[in-house]
Amino acid sequence: MCEIKYHVKLPIFVARQWIRHRTANVNEYSARYSILDKEFYIPAPEQLAVQAADNRQGRGAVLEGQAAADVLNILRRDAEQTYANYEDMLDESKYGLARELARMNLTLNTYTQWYWKTDLHNLFHFLRLRADAHAQYEIRVYAEAMMETVKAWVPLSYGAFTDYRLGAVTFSAKMLDILKRMLSGEQVEQPTSGLSKREWTEMMVALGR
Ligand SMILES: Cc1cc2nc3c(=O)[nH]c(=O)nc-3n(C[C@H](O)[C@H](O)[C@H](O)COP(=O)(O)OP(=O)(O)OC[C@H]3O[C@@H](n4cnc5c(N)ncnc54)[C@H](O)[C@@H]3O)c2cc1C
Repeated sequence: MCEIKYHVKLPIFVARQWIRHRTANVNEYSARYSILDKEFYIPAPEQLAVQAADNRQGRGAVLEGQAAADVLNILRRDAEQTYANYEDMLDESKYGLARELARMNLTLNTYTQWYWKTDLHNLFHFLRLRADAHAQYEIRVYAEAMMETVKAWVPLSYGAFTDYRLGAVTFSAKMLDILKRMLSGEQVEQPTSGLSKREWTEMMVALGR
């Protein structure tokens, strides 16, 4: 029955992932009613990475040198340009366009804000998915910050959560079978295991091999 309410400021592209968690009450800052702040998320250089080769939903090596500088420039320039156009369209001495329309060309790295209220059970579900290594870094940092609030708020439940959910691993039936064969001394290799390379790697990482 424990409930918590967060006031969150987040880039629109992160909000789009977050809002998929339906078991919460959300009250978002209205860009129909108010003017959005001129504030954009620009990744830190170490977060600017190329597409991962082995995971379509992931990042690979960090982008460096001129390529990194160019990308940062593009991100800043586009955000600045679209915000300048936003201000122009809103300007009553020029167009006086309605706020609900003027916002539509803003970049997805523009920050929005909301109040997000949920209960502990559903918060743990959110954190299990979004504090996980598979979650995108930009939402994971929020989940990690929220973990600290939960730790201070309900330390015993937090301990149980990190032990039984966050620190636990799930094996498929095939993985469990492979583990049993390994424990009985059999040498099992990926190509004949029946697991994909990715599944095999995940299993080996879980086993610390
Ligand atoms: C790493 C990762 C990658 C993802 N990739 C994609 C992607 O490529 N494409 C995409 O579209 N989404 C993607 N998602 C989002 C994902 O599919 C879920 O929408 C999101 O994680 C919310 O999870 P949920 O539905 O369990 O949460 P919630 O909406 O909070 O639901 C929690 C639980 O309540 C149940 N529930 C919720 N509403 C109801 C209801 N009305 N009636 C009955 N039961 C209900 C749900 O079944 C669930 O068990 C991704 C998520 C993660 C973490």
